[in-house]
Amino acid sequence: MLNLVLFGPPGAGKGTQSKRLIETYDLMHLSTGDILRYEIADETALGMEAKKRIDKGELVPDEIVIGMITKIVEKNKQVPGFIFDGFPRTVHQASVLDEILHSREMSITMMLSLEVEEEELITRLLNRGKKSNRPDDQDVSIIERRLKVYKESTQPVRDYYINMNKHVSIFGMRKEEEVFSSIREAIDNMLNKKDIHV
Ligand code: AMP
Repeated sequence: MLNLVLFGPPGAGKGTQSKRLIETYDLMHLSTGDILRYEIADETALGMEAKKRIDKGELVPDEIVIGMITKIVEKNKQVPGFIFDGFPRTVHQASVLDEILHSREMSITMMLSLEVEEEELITRLLNRGKKSNRPDDQDVSIIERRLKVYKESTQPVRDYYINMNKHVSIFGMRKEEEVFSSIREAIDNMLNKKDIHV
């Protein structure tokens, strides 16, 4: 199985690169942000609870997102692998993800970390906010809060994967195709090294 964590700050291009990855590697895309937005659109209790945090630029509690991920991994035993996009966002989520996968004899193959400078992230998010109806992309103070939360709570997740020798850094301030070509190269190198076939 090929299980990827696509990592990076808000606006780094995780969603865009995930779409390309799905087409190339036939993996199941699992974006906690997208799932939470569906829950909000459906006005579920979980969605309403999450919305309070998302609108403020805060993280949704670990138990909520871990519960969502556990259910989906459990239901999809036959897929060739997963792309975890926007998850894990805390070290606790990362270690629980390992437990969930290990109990099913699976593991994370590698983490791809998209590197983009903060100024560029703010420009990208505000542009996305003009085109989408995501409230959290439309207000600079919310965007700044998200970036602060990223630095404090999410960046340590990178060290978690560095310590396991699973982290690959991808320079994200280039054209989409160029970023994707580096991602592909990193994955293909890893697959050849481990002799994994997908
Ligand atoms: P995203 O679409 O990945 O930028 O996520 C949008 C928002 O959903 C984030 O700002 C968080 O409030 C929430 N969210 C998404 N994924 C997670 C996660 N793994 N843990 C906690 N909150 C999350």
